[in-house]
Amino acid sequence: MMRLPWFDHRRPRSVAEVSKILAGEGPQAMLIAGGTDLLPNMKRRHQTPGVLVSLKGIESLRKANGTLGSGLTLSDILGMEKIPSGLRQAAAQVATPHLRNMGTLGGNLCLDTRCTYYNQNYEWRQAIDFCLKKDGDTCWVATASKRCVAVSSTDTAPALIALNAEIKLESASGERWIPVASLYQNDGIDYLSRKPDEILTAVKVPDGWKSTYWKLRRRGAFDFPILGVAAALRFSSGNTIEDARFALGAAASRPFLVEKAGAYLKGKRLTDDTIAEASAIIASRAKPMDNTDMDLYWRKEVADDFAGYALRELRGDDMRDTRLRIARHLV
Ligand SMILES: Cc1cc2nc3c(=O)[nH]c(=O)nc-3n(C[C@H](O)[C@H](O)[C@H](O)COP(=O)(O)OP(=O)(O)OC[C@H]3O[C@@H](n4cnc5c(N)ncnc54)[C@H](O)[C@@H]3O)c2cc1C
Ligand code: SF4
Repeated sequence: MMRLPWFDHRRPRSVAEVSKILAGEGPQAMLIAGGTDLLPNMKRRHQTPGVLVSLKGIESLRKANGTLGSGLTLSDILGMEKIPSGLRQAAAQVATPHLRNMGTLGGNLCLDTRCTYYNQNYEWRQAIDFCLKKDGDTCWVATASKRCVAVSSTDTAPALIALNAEIKLESASGERWIPVASLYQNDGIDYLSRKPDEILTAVKVPDGWKSTYWKLRRRGAFDFPILGVAAALRFSSGNTIEDARFALGAAASRPFLVEKAGAYLKGKRLTDDTIAEASAIIASRAKPMDNTDMDLYWRKEVADDFAGYALRELRGDDMRDTRLRIARHLV
């Protein structure tokens, strides 16, 4: 059985109190929300914070007044009426109902990156002399690389990037709003631009987008994404596309926007030809590494299909059968 390392536990009642603790404790403190990612990681000794600062006692983080509080659980979000469908589909496919009842939106956005050589227990990692991301100095996926290429595996981030959402970061020295896309860096170790003393407190999701999210995973019941395609479109009169945003998840160490596909579709309509061209552009940006589930060449090929499914769904095609086939691994 894997045991948790020792740590102090704090349960503040306000964001101001959290900021004060983080400022005082420095890098030995970590935030914990639902704990569904952090606690397993601590058991594997990926992170060994001396102090855990719980966000569970802060009511304001569980509010949805024009913005979504970062402490809302994924189940809370699924229970809300006015959630864009892309975010709803992403949240609905995170983990299992139990984990969605505990796991929060903020925790999902700050999820650690993943890799076959990293998501293992301490003894397993010790047997390969560890790796660059934790306790070692070689990347076993790209041995010449000085950068860790662990995969961003959050489902809600690509959905929120496509929706052009923003997040609020608060600390003892102030607050700032940034686009969700700017939270991420293409570095498996230093994957967030968030400063260690900053708390992600809220998410602002603009209205007016028609959106969807398609996820590739081994098991339909639950599994981390090995590809996520998020799409959001705004239409002007006559079904012409006024604005288009596409984001890929689980295809690099960060979720990212595929600007070229958005630019290509602006001013056009969704026809079989424009869908094929936009899908090819999106797929050309997916450059998966061999450090997660399933064959990487196949994962890259599937990106083209998934982008096409997303666009056809946004055109109004009935894609329910395709979703069902994917859930039953018949792609
Ligand atoms: C079996 C299993 C399957 C899973 N499948 C998926 C999946 O398919 N897709 C997916 O996306 N995730 C998956 N997860 C991961 C996890 O359950 C979710 O990502 C969940 O939303 C994480 O939220 P949390 O509140 O539990 O985060 P925590 O574990 O509490 O925190 C995660 C990280 O975020 C930081 N953090 C938390 N809240 C904040 C905040 N407000 N501000 C700044 N930093 C913060 C923590 O310090 C920690 O580094 C899975 C986990 C398990 C165990
Ligand atoms: S990508 Fe390389 S450095 Fe990063 S976790 Fe995997 S093996 Fe370790």
